Amino acid sequence: MNYFIDVILPIPLQKLFTYKITEAEASFLKKGMRVAVEFGKSKIYTALVYRIHNNPPVAYEAKDIYQILDEKPIVTNEQLKHWDWISEYYLCALGEVFRAAMPSAFLLESETIISLKTGVINEDDLSNDEFLIFEALQHQQQLTVNQIIQILDKKNVFPIIKELITKKVIEIKEQIYEQYKPKLVKYIRLSSPWNTPDKLPVLLENLKRAKKQREVILNYFQLAATTSNVKASALQKIANSSSAVLNSLVEKNILEFYFIQTDRIHFLGKTIQLKKLTAPQEVALNTIKTIFKSKQTVLLKGITSSGKTEIYTHLIKETLDKGKQVLYLLPEIALTTQLISRLEAFFGNQLSVFHSRYSMNERIEVWNNTLLQKKKAQLILGARSSLFLPFSNLGLIIIDEEHETSFKQFDPSPRYHARDAAIVLANYHQAKVLLGSATPSIESYYNAQQGKYGFVELNERYKNILLPEIELVDIKEKHRKKRMTGHFSDRLIECIKEALEHKEQVILFQNRRGYAPVIECETCGVSPQCPHCDVSLTFHSYRKELKCHYCGYTKTIPTNCDACGSEKLNTKGFGTEQIEMELQHLFPETKVGRMDFDTTRGKYGYQKIISMFQQQEIDILVGTQMLSKGLDFANVSLVGIMNADNLLNFPDFRAHEKSYQLMVQVAGRAGRSHKQGKVIIQTFNPYHQILQQVSTNSYEKMFKEQLDERWQYHYPPFYRLIKITLKHKDYKRVDEAANWLAKSFTLIFKSNALGPSTPSVGRIRNYFIRNIIIKVPQKQSLKATKKHILNVKNSFQAIKEFRAVRFNIDVDNY
Ligand code: ADP
Ligand code: ZN
Ligand code: ZN
Repeated sequence: MNYFIDVILPIPLQKLFTYKITEAEASFLKKGMRVAVEFGKSKIYTALVYRIHNNPPVAYEAKDIYQILDEKPIVTNEQLKHWDWISEYYLCALGEVFRAAMPSAFLLESETIISLKTGVINEDDLSNDEFLIFEALQHQQQLTVNQIIQILDKKNVFPIIKELITKKVIEIKEQIYEQYKPKLVKYIRLSSPWNTPDKLPVLLENLKRAKKQREVILNYFQLAATTSNVKASALQKIANSSSAVLNSLVEKNILEFYFIQTDRIHFLGKTIQLKKLTAPQEVALNTIKTIFKSKQTVLLKGITSSGKTEIYTHLIKETLDKGKQVLYLLPEIALTTQLISRLEAFFGNQLSVFHSRYSMNERIEVWNNTLLQKKKAQLILGARSSLFLPFSNLGLIIIDEEHETSFKQFDPSPRYHARDAAIVLANYHQAKVLLGSATPSIESYYNAQQGKYGFVELNERYKNILLPEIELVDIKEKHRKKRMTGHFSDRLIECIKEALEHKEQVILFQNRRGYAPVIECETCGVSPQCPHCDVSLTFHSYRKELKCHYCGYTKTIPTNCDACGSEKLNTKGFGTEQIEMELQHLFPETKVGRMDFDTTRGKYGYQKIISMFQQQEIDILVGTQMLSKGLDFANVSLVGIMNADNLLNFPDFRAHEKSYQLMVQVAGRAGRSHKQGKVIIQTFNPYHQILQQVSTNSYEKMFKEQLDERWQYHYPPFYRLIKITLKHKDYKRVDEAANWLAKSFTLIFKSNALGPSTPSVGRIRNYFIRNIIIKVPQKQSLKATKKHILNVKNSFQAIKEFRAVRFNIDVDNY
């Protein structure tokens, strides 16, 4: 009998690839374990076993695997099912999902390390090349594949490596063991001759003359009475002793050290009782639970500061008490800081956090803890990628601020939406999903109206504090009457003054980072452009540089216009940095902080600013949309939106919906704990329907109006969208390709194929970009549509001239 495995390779391959295994390997290998294999010309990959069977592949000769890398599966069956769905729904390769799903340390390949196996080796058995490697490994503990290529001075070294593995001379070393060193904590205990209480008198008698050591032993007994494991450091501290004294006790074989692996992210402190829910919160919670009996997903629409988070905690507790895992998805890590402390107060050591700013080690720890259903991974808090953790017993998924667009991954593939993918995942586990938002996405609210989701509303703020009063300030008028100081209207200044006098804090929102978006020549009107992208460079005064926000290109600020040589360079538009500087002029005594992409780098970037603001070390916080996301500051009484218009005029069918959500969310930061807050929105267009709806808190009205427009112009939720993007460095090539493609799609989809069009930034990193949108009516089969698209793609890529054109598909690209 022959045995084969189909594996997923971490590359955009359309199919699974088959390898041969021995009978012994077959008895050991399981679906979800990793193996090292060769693919293509001399490349080693970490691949994942997807299937084990007895059928040789038809089109090629199956190769042997190099090595099995796991002792047990590290990916569960539910995960594999979920990956299948993602790859099918979002039209991407399984390998791309594999790559996105695993912490990168699980996938190391390029620098694969070879080391000597222990054991007796008969050198006569080795060929010349094999011996060279063997010899090199005598001098050097390990070699990378690249080094072997150098030593042997030939490209194709894999057959030789393979032969050496077969001869049991070398082994492929898994870097993960190298890089992932669990942190060990040193503990101390009585060694076996002394470890019963009745020995204590003898022991103390023996140590009569060693006062310090005697003291340590007495303290040890004290500690051991309260905890099962005594930390060496704790003993040393409480006994007011030195490590030398501890060591001498260990030398005398009275005490001994031992080690326990601890996880890096460690929550200290004791947990507290959940907060008692108010009557309306209690009703909401009970309604959610009742609906969960018949529906998988519930949308909780609760106004800002109504206590949605408190309701979540009660549901979480009930799920954890049933022994099930909970996933709490957040749109962005900016939020986690506050939420971690809120949740750890209740759930302490049951909580793990998972996101991309955590180190590889931390991520692997969370992965393993989730897989093993460790206690501390019962509740996972994370951004969208935590969806890929190896849950085996998921009971509940909470998607907080479900309307946020950062749940969607745009690049690279898989271009999935975490909310939608989470609902599918929950299905495999028979878990429940709670979507929460003050401003639900049009799609989710529509789904709730259609009965697809359950729906629960919470319309009262905690303590019945009124929603903030929203005032629209017409800055066209203010400019005309000369009542503007920089970008501040007299009204906004007045309100800031008042808040500061009352020792209250202020948040100012400006949807742009940097000092000013661009500089412009007063003489000829030209703005410096990025040489690699079709976009003006952004002006950053702090670093005195111009920067491209698309590719990161920077240059120092020119003194003369590149085009005409004029010295009259002006700044145009304004960003967070400029607001910060204007504030310092207007309120010199006030401490101003800024929270945007530039000031929140690094793992603790947000944490610092957020906690400074919380501690009231900052009076006014200026920031971008990061500020809109669920932060809870008790002392903020005023929120100012510097300019609403640049939100509303965004060329996107969701611009109005998004502006509504953003403004209501930013406004929701005001007046959360004591009294009604105030919001000032500066705009050139106070009669805009969205601004009217924001100021009167009319979500329903906004929803109806937007839904009408979506219906009329064929947008979601009535039509699905699939976006195809072509990229190439040659302008003519991409144009030809886009035209060919649009024509082919028009033949199939008629007027539902739109384009090609050039996006507002038509070139990024020297790649020219063209888009084609395909609209899919509700009645049209999504599956058939996708099949058509893939067929066209295949023909497209069969054309020689187009083969090098990048072809991306984005399903639900919004
Ligand atoms: P949301 O998530 O709806 O914006 P939060 O859950 O953040 O609202 O609640 C707003 C504030 O009110 C928080 O500081 C929260 O601790 C407090 N709060 C809400 N409900 C309760 C409650 N039942 N008991 C005590 N504090 C509450
Ligand atoms: Zn000029
Ligand atoms: Zn650029």
